[in-house]
Amino acid sequence: MHVAESIARARELFADAPRPLGFVPTMGALHAGHLALVRRARERSATVVASIFVNPLQFGASEDLATYPRDPERDRQKLQEAGVDVVFAPDAERMYPEGFATTVDVGAIATTFEGAIRPGHFRGVATVIAKLLNIVLPDALFLGQKDAQQAIVLRRLVADLNFPVEIEIVPTVREPDGLALSSRNAYLDAQLRAQAPTLHAALVTVRDALQGGRKKSDAIAAGSAVLSATAQLEYLDVVDGNTFAPAERLVPPAFVIGAARFGTTRLIDNLWILQ
Ligand code: AMP
Repeated sequence: MHVAESIARARELFADAPRPLGFVPTMGALHAGHLALVRRARERSATVVASIFVNPLQFGASEDLATYPRDPERDRQKLQEAGVDVVFAPDAERMYPEGFATTVDVGAIATTFEGAIRPGHFRGVATVIAKLLNIVLPDALFLGQKDAQQAIVLRRLVADLNFPVEIEIVPTVREPDGLALSSRNAYLDAQLRAQAPTLHAALVTVRDALQGGRKKSDAIAAGSAVLSATAQLEYLDVVDGNTFAPAERLVPPAFVIGAARFGTTRLIDNLWILQ
């Protein structure tokens, strides 16, 4: 496995890499969810590239950039074991040198839900992914369903700016109790960890209520009631699976989406309804 820290070295490695080339962007602190993306990329690609970059542009001023979990040695070990060919691990100075000014704004789709609660977040995500796509030049981009709005925003970016890359969205990997794997789960103490699966349970309740014919407001109320009483719900909703626009009924493709704070830790999750 090669590790490239500079953009020039990365370009050199990618130039004659066997195709198709599959790309898995990450912020490190890798878990089995990230590795599911790598596995899927490995199945479909002659060359697998993963990036590790904690992108400052997608963190708000009051967010956890400074404390975001980092473990580069362990991450590289895991990527090597998973059969990654090249790891691209630039630092922020290389990605955003002095004078950097261009950002990518994906429009209305990036202003609801996560975009409303985290202003500028998707501008940061779209900008770094545009840069990474131009550096890595992959044939396929592997994204997690876990960050559903991010995946839909990036699908918009790729379509609108004609990036010649196919996107595959890989299903969410969960703990046995339903909690979606997330690097931020590391912030939860034992008590909060015990409460956290109620976010997934709330989503399941909403889905089952809608599929059982209940109207949306009843389904959302039933879901909210399942969430741990000490958690702070930020949103619980149903959206169209292609546009992320709120939907009244559960017509596939759709997502049931939710976000809540457990203590100071903010968790998001969703169910992808495909049929
Ligand atoms: P991050 O390191 O949080 O930026 O995540 C990198 C990629 O891994 C994104 O495409 C995420 O959606 C994906 N991912 C994160 N958690 C999971 C999970 N539990 N299951 C599947 N994919 C995930």
